[in-house]
Amino acid sequence: MPQPKQEKDVYYGFEQGPIRPPSEARSLLIRVTRNCPWNRCTFCHVYKETRFSVRPEAHVIEDIEAIHRHVETLKRMADASGSILRRDINAAVEGLAPHEHETFGVALNWYAGGMRSIFLQDANSLIVKPDSLIRILRHLRRRFPWVERITSYARAHTVARISDENLREMCAAGLNRLHLGLESGADAVLRMVHKGVDKQTQVKAGRKVKKAGMELSEYIMPGLGGRAFSREHALETADALNQIDPDFIRLRSLAIPDGIPLTEELRSGRFVKLGDTDTVREIRLFVEHLDGITSMITSDHILNLFAEVEGRLPDAKPAILALLDRYLALPADEQCRFQVGRRLGLFTALEDLERPKRRAKVDAFCVQHGITPDNVDEMIAQIMTRFI
Ligand code: SF4
Repeated sequence: MPQPKQEKDVYYGFEQGPIRPPSEARSLLIRVTRNCPWNRCTFCHVYKETRFSVRPEAHVIEDIEAIHRHVETLKRMADASGSILRRDINAAVEGLAPHEHETFGVALNWYAGGMRSIFLQDANSLIVKPDSLIRILRHLRRRFPWVERITSYARAHTVARISDENLREMCAAGLNRLHLGLESGADAVLRMVHKGVDKQTQVKAGRKVKKAGMELSEYIMPGLGGRAFSREHALETADALNQIDPDFIRLRSLAIPDGIPLTEELRSGRFVKLGDTDTVREIRLFVEHLDGITSMITSDHILNLFAEVEGRLPDAKPAILALLDRYLALPADEQCRFQVGRRLGLFTALEDLERPKRRAKVDAFCVQHGITPDNVDEMIAQIMTRFI
């Protein structure tokens, strides 16, 4: 007699996880695992109260097949330029079973975004057995041979334990970029925030990714050392990255929403958070010590004060330092105005301080909410939690 299926064997349909890197906004999201197998970093809110699981390979393949079917439908409806009439899309949706609507929407968005890249979710896809991950990658390649990039988040701790040969095979099967959350190169900071990995392992993992032929994107978190470790955080993180030379260094400043372990540290006074201006000083020290590498620095997260900290090293370094120095030379009320304007979405660059209408709006907001240079950091911390 056939055994009843276990819950984990039942396919409930296409799945998507909660997050992806900002640079993967146009990517197709394929969920290979659910949540985070570590889940102990004190600054991270994303997967708290969730359980990690690896999705059965057959379910991931079913997801890929569903998207492939819809993409083929869309391609048939398109004219020579690739455009599709809204009328035809509506007709296609009407012909679908209700449970297929969401998947069709995902396929349609991906089609509209050019179908160039795929991102494997959730927090650490490389924890999947290499053979299984390689089969999934090959299936993606078979179904979507035109895709230029397949990427994933991964933990350095996991990557460091995968053989060079397996990483090379993953790369050959299409996985050509990894996003690693380095956060800090300082062991004191990594221990404090329970990152579960030390600097040496982070460097080892980063180098292995590059050796395998994949592009490497390293995330760092300005402010993560708090006041106590700010200098060490800047210098050790720069040193780790100098040893790795990743393709991308992406900044994502610390924000502390309610409900994460770091909030408790903050309330008890064990962790003292840096304000925006001290974070800029820390970033300046960090950038100053990046040396001998050709990484692209980006600041593509709304939590960062500057979107303009961007460019390829080493040529971009003088301009980035000059920008940070210009901010640090401003009087306190102008720094305060810029901090608020940036977080309200009214300013994107320091030059925006010269725009009278936007400036007036920021000033009106500051008056209405009682924001002054003395309390701006506290007020900004509240605003920033809305972006998380
Ligand atoms: S490893 Fe990444 S996803 Fe997991 S808890 Fe840490 S920061 Fe969050």
